[in-house]
Amino acid sequence: MKKLVDGLARMSGLRDRDELDFAFIRLVADCASDSVDSTWLVRVVGDGEDRRCLTRARLDAQHTQPLRDAAWTNWDALPKLVDFPGRQEAYERGKVVHVGIGPHTTIFPIGGGQGVWAVLEIESKLAVSAQTEAVIAGIVLTYQNLHGLLDYGEKDALTELLNRKTFDGAFFKATAEQDTFVADEAHPERRMAGPNGSYWLAMLDIDHFKRVNDNFGHLIGDEVLLLMARLMRNNFRFHDQLYRFGGEEFVILMRCDNAGDAKNALERLRSSVQGHVFPQVGNITISIGFSVLKENDTPGGAFGRADKAVYYAKEHGRNQVCSYQELVLAGELVEQASEAMDVDLF
Ligand code: GH3
Ligand code: MG
Ligand code: MG
Repeated sequence: MKKLVDGLARMSGLRDRDELDFAFIRLVADCASDSVDSTWLVRVVGDGEDRRCLTRARLDAQHTQPLRDAAWTNWDALPKLVDFPGRQEAYERGKVVHVGIGPHTTIFPIGGGQGVWAVLEIESKLAVSAQTEAVIAGIVLTYQNLHGLLDYGEKDALTELLNRKTFDGAFFKATAEQDTFVADEAHPERRMAGPNGSYWLAMLDIDHFKRVNDNFGHLIGDEVLLLMARLMRNNFRFHDQLYRFGGEEFVILMRCDNAGDAKNALERLRSSVQGHVFPQVGNITISIGFSVLKENDTPGGAFGRADKAVYYAKEHGRNQVCSYQELVLAGELVEQASEAMDVDLF
């Protein structure tokens, strides 16, 4: 009982989703039984026929430290949900599923009002008792509620994209990870464009959005913002982080193998926005500026670079994607030492 209450108290004090997921499966493993071999928290990503399993946290009996897939794991490397019928059933039916007669697998669906988005899988030598199952169901519900609270604080109410508040944390996680590659002397090729990729920051500003508001009113303007968020979600991969920074400005923090891939992804979005017919408004366009994140970068430094590229796009006809690094190389922009890194404008 004390273990359970302590674990719930610990979970409710966490604001970082990675830490929350680890605390959650630790508590489940502690409360399950001695016969548990492994505990998994699996997020279901993708849609339609092609849903995949991203392991958010996994604890094996022989390990004291949980493991997880890297958030940016290659899509093709993620196992398919259809290859795990138990998970698929729990996911689709929203019910606890029992598979096997030794080892036993018990799978709990996780998800609130908006449907199931993850499953908890417990593999054990003995079947989980009805009493233990009820305790775990309570932990799952608490975890789900905590997630809901984090969403409420971190998401923009109109578009449900991430809001500005969470950006700095995500940015420093990304640069810290990138710095570990850069510091890897045995693999100097990983600097900037190695097999592990790099992070890129893109800023997106809708062209002539004032006209939309002036001609059609704010409500229709808001509808355009909502549809823009949908186009962004459809365009980027599950691990790219999409933000609305207020107004009609959006930010994308993404991981790509190289500059060409980053530009292609952004160009794809630009083109799908251009081709979309917005109800009443018709066609609108966007201007995008982007920059690679550098070693010891700061949010202010990276924003300064991406913003200059957006400004350049606006000045040169709008409806285009501009790379800060390309513009510097072409002599169109002059890089100042303070923009390369280490200036915090926030
Ligand atoms: P530009 O191509 O130079 O970007 O022109 P613009 O008209 O889009 O200019 P700018 O980006 O400076 O203008 C932003 C406008 O967006 C101002 C305001 O009318 C509108 N706007 C900002 N926030 C919101 C919002 O939450 N909802 C709506 N409907 N409009 C907003
Ligand atoms: Mg603007
Ligand atoms: Mg604008």
